[in-house]
Amino acid sequence: MPSYAAPIRDLQFILHDVLDVSHQGTPGYADLDPDFTAAIFEEAGKLASSVLAPLNLVGDAEGCALENGVVRTPAGFKDAFEQVRAGGWTSIDLPEEYGGQAMPYLMYTALGEISSGANMAFTMYQGLTHGAASAILAHGTQEQKTTYLPKMTSCEWTGTMNLTEPHCGTDLGLMRTKAVPQGDGSYRITGQKIFISSGEHDMADNIIHLVLAKIEGGPEGIKGVSLFIVPKVNVNADGTLGARNGASVGSIEDKMGIHANSTCVMNYDDATGYLLGEAHKGMRAMFTMMNEARLGVGMQGLAQAQVAYENALAYAHDRLQGRAVTGVAVPDKPADPLIVHPDIRRSLMDQKSFVEGGRAFILWGATMIDAAHRSEDRDADGLVSLLTPVIKGFLTDVGYDMTVKAQQIYGGHGYIEEWGMSQFTRDARIAMIYEGANGVQALDLVGRKLAQDGGKHVMAFFDLVKGFCKENAGQDEAFDRDFIEPLKAASKDLQGAAMYFMQNGMKNPNNALAGSNDFMHMFGHTCLGLMWAMMGKAARTALANGASDATFYETKLATGRYYMARQLPATALHLTRIQSGADTVMGLDAANF
Ligand SMILES: Cc1cc2nc3c(=O)[nH]c(=O)nc-3n(C[C@H](O)[C@H](O)[C@H](O)COP(=O)(O)OP(=O)(O)OC[C@H]3O[C@@H](n4cnc5c(N)ncnc54)[C@H](O)[C@@H]3O)c2cc1C
Repeated sequence: MPSYAAPIRDLQFILHDVLDVSHQGTPGYADLDPDFTAAIFEEAGKLASSVLAPLNLVGDAEGCALENGVVRTPAGFKDAFEQVRAGGWTSIDLPEEYGGQAMPYLMYTALGEISSGANMAFTMYQGLTHGAASAILAHGTQEQKTTYLPKMTSCEWTGTMNLTEPHCGTDLGLMRTKAVPQGDGSYRITGQKIFISSGEHDMADNIIHLVLAKIEGGPEGIKGVSLFIVPKVNVNADGTLGARNGASVGSIEDKMGIHANSTCVMNYDDATGYLLGEAHKGMRAMFTMMNEARLGVGMQGLAQAQVAYENALAYAHDRLQGRAVTGVAVPDKPADPLIVHPDIRRSLMDQKSFVEGGRAFILWGATMIDAAHRSEDRDADGLVSLLTPVIKGFLTDVGYDMTVKAQQIYGGHGYIEEWGMSQFTRDARIAMIYEGANGVQALDLVGRKLAQDGGKHVMAFFDLVKGFCKENAGQDEAFDRDFIEPLKAASKDLQGAAMYFMQNGMKNPNNALAGSNDFMHMFGHTCLGLMWAMMGKAARTALANGASDATFYETKLATGRYYMARQLPATALHLTRIQSGADTVMGLDAANF
């Protein structure tokens, strides 16, 4: 049975050695001293290892069941959800006036990795609630906030996001769900939504569905879409629960992974709904929380890669096969452990350097979201908006690849369900698809984000890399060679690709979009290169200051050197592909495939 141990030392390193969060100047950050964050991570780690992780296999094997219109979650889920609620772990960053703890989003993200690494399907019930609550917080009337937020903050009521319909997922302008005004401020919502995560279950008294629908007589296409609050059970004026609303689950999907999260067909039959935000501005309301939601999905990819790596590493130490080519490593055993073999090392180093770099990337992104929300820092908002499709697309694509690498270390046993490695790959797979499929993330990056505000944010990214290299070069020859020079080369490739799009994308947009996936990946590599350079700098500083756990910091430097030497040069191949343009991609007539 697989296990999970939260990467607390690593989280602490990123928060305090690399990002130096308690001295950042963002409101709420001064409270994040190392002892405080360590205590929180320790507690969260205990809950994750002892309660959530043991339920992961159970949830996968048992799945959810629909019985008489109610979804039964797997054995143990209700109790665990109760423990999470009782511990105050739900919506840790929501405002105190609604029962939250007002911690920075950074902490929510770090804790999300711990919970998701232990049990992704379970964590989604809470994650979707957080997303819906954030939308109400950003766009709700005071009455809506008072009615829904305290119960959602505590997860006594959970939440959902209803966008997808049978005939449309990416192209939501095709949406058919209708909203008819009732004259009393409410609307009648009618239509069918599919693939709704946590759409129905037995762990909460009420479910607050956020539903996108078109108000009758409104503009055509995406401009006519509005967002509505549709409670499963109507809420009386005094806050008590009233009659059932016309929102019901039609069926649940039988799917590849996250079996313990109910994926529902939701039917809305004249259900009472309340407009959230402005009429016809539903997509805008959704988009204000998109950065957070997509960062959360990127984190899921990372979290599955982390837990898969942890287990693969343990297996590589235990499993005896063959002998080290350079001579017997463990003479008193019939064979050496897998970890002696260079090809196993390569795979483990790929995984380790990705999860540690990816973790820094996501937490760095979370600090920008905090700066944007807590300090109204427009530059941070612009930069995280540019990087969001990279965090989502790159970390989930590569996160999935890493779960496959971890599974491979188990050989045939990785393919057998009882070892749990197959579940990590199956669960990780969905993160590449939902919250905007990764192909669409790449499209968003190249088609929209690159040129946003006249290209200001991508220029800011290049300046940031340049500034880092300038400030840190020339102090140590080895650091320059191993970290600064590879980062400069990757950044140069990325700029070359952006330049290619500028010069060739206007005359033929296919030239830009045929390279969008490569661009998203080379951008991801460059960001991880920057993270490794920042981590390398922090490790050097700690060693120079005589840090007591020198091995930890030396290991950081060695892992960073690996990423810089073996992963980052991928940018050159991506650039070559991009510069080959769209001709070979679009060369075949559609009929000749
Ligand atoms: C388990 C699960 C949970 C989900 N949870 C939710 C949820 O809670 N709420 C919700 O609303 N939805 C949810 N979804 C739906 C999910 O967000 C959609 O499936 C996803 O956005 C893709 O939409 P689609 O399936 O209709 O694919 P399509 O839109 O038909 O796209 C198919 C493929 O074509 C690509 N594509 C589409 N348009 C373009 C283009 N212009 N250029 C290039 N490529 C393009 C896409 O990237 C994709 O790979 C969930 C789905 C699953 C499977």
